[in-house]
Amino acid sequence: MLDQRVVLSPISPTPVQPMDRLGAALGLAAGRLWVKRDDLTGLAGGGNKVRKLEHLCADALAQGCDTLVTGGGRQSNHARLTAAAAAVLGLRCRLVLGSDPPSTATGNLVLDHLLGAEIVWAGPLDFYALEAAIDTEAAAVSAAGGRPYAMPLGGASTIGQLGYVVAALELRAQLPDTSLVVVADGTGGTHAGLVAGWGSHEAVLGIDVGTRPDLDHTVPRHALEAAARAGLPAPTGTCQIDHTRYAPGYGEPNPATREALDLAARLEGLVLDPVYSGKAMAGLIAAAREGGLPTDGTVTFLHTGGMPALFSPRYADWIEQHP
Ligand SMILES: *Cc1c(COP(=O)(O)O)cnc(C)c1O
Repeated sequence: MLDQRVVLSPISPTPVQPMDRLGAALGLAAGRLWVKRDDLTGLAGGGNKVRKLEHLCADALAQGCDTLVTGGGRQSNHARLTAAAAAVLGLRCRLVLGSDPPSTATGNLVLDHLLGAEIVWAGPLDFYALEAAIDTEAAAVSAAGGRPYAMPLGGASTIGQLGYVVAALELRAQLPDTSLVVVADGTGGTHAGLVAGWGSHEAVLGIDVGTRPDLDHTVPRHALEAAARAGLPAPTGTCQIDHTRYAPGYGEPNPATREALDLAARLEGLVLDPVYSGKAMAGLIAAAREGGLPTDGTVTFLHTGGMPALFSPRYADWIEQHP
C-alpha cells in the first residue's frame, strides 16, 4: 500500500538539519533540536501536501480519473499543490475556494492561476459547507462527462495520510534518536500519518491551528486507519494535541506566532508561515519554556511549508508593521 504512489517530488528523503542557535535560545543542548524540511518537497513551492498527493494521485490514476477536485481557503497550500500535481500528471484541476474573489490575486492564488487550475469562488463557507461544495463540484464534473477525483480539504483522507506514514519511517531512519516530533494540526492528517508510521502517539505533539473542532477524535481514528492500511500495528499511547496556541482564530496570528516567526528567521534563516508552521513553532517554544519537552532524545520540528501566504497583503503588512 505504501508503495502505491506517484513521485511528485525529486527531493526524497527531505533533509533534516540541526537548529542549535534556536535550541540554545530555548535552553536546549546542541544537537537536541532539529527540523525536517518538508517545506522543501520538490513541487511548486513545496510543503506537506506533496506527500499526501503522491498517494492520492496514484489512487486517482488507478481509478481512471481525469480531473482533480478539491478546495480550501483563498490562500490554500493544498489547492496550490493539487493544481501543480494535476499539471505534472496531465489531469485537469478544479479548485473550490471558500471565499469571495479578491480584487488582486496574491500568494498561493497567483500560483493557482499560473498552474492552470479552474477556480470556483464559493463565498465564505465553514469547514463542513466547503467539504459539501467540493462534492457538488465533483458531481458537476461528472455531469459534464468528466471523471472527477474528489479530495477532502487538506487531502485528509486515509490514502493521503499514507504520505506521512512514509515520512515517519524516513525520519526514523534519519534521526533514530527522535523522542518527539512537533507538527501543525490543520485537519490533523499529517499528525495521524506520523503516529501510524512511528507506532506511538507519545512521539508526536500536534499544535492545533484552529481549523476544526474535532481533532481529539479524528487524529486517533485516522492514525488507526492509516496504520491498518499500511499493514502496521495499531499505535500505542495517548494522542497529544495542544489546543491553546491558535487564538484568536484560524489564520489569525497572535504575538507568540510572531515571536516564533522572528526567532526561526533571525536565528536559523528559516522562514515559517503565519497560519500553520508559525503556530506550531510557538507551541514548541512554549513547551520548551514550560518544561514540556522530553528530557532525552531529539526533538524534531516538522516544517510543513506555507511560505506563499506570507506574500498576501494581510500577512505582508503584519510582518512590516509589527517588527
Ligand atoms: C495543510 C497544512 C498543514 C496542516 O496539515 P494537516 O495534515 O491538514 O493537519 C500544516 N502546514 C501547512 C503549511 C499546510 O499547508
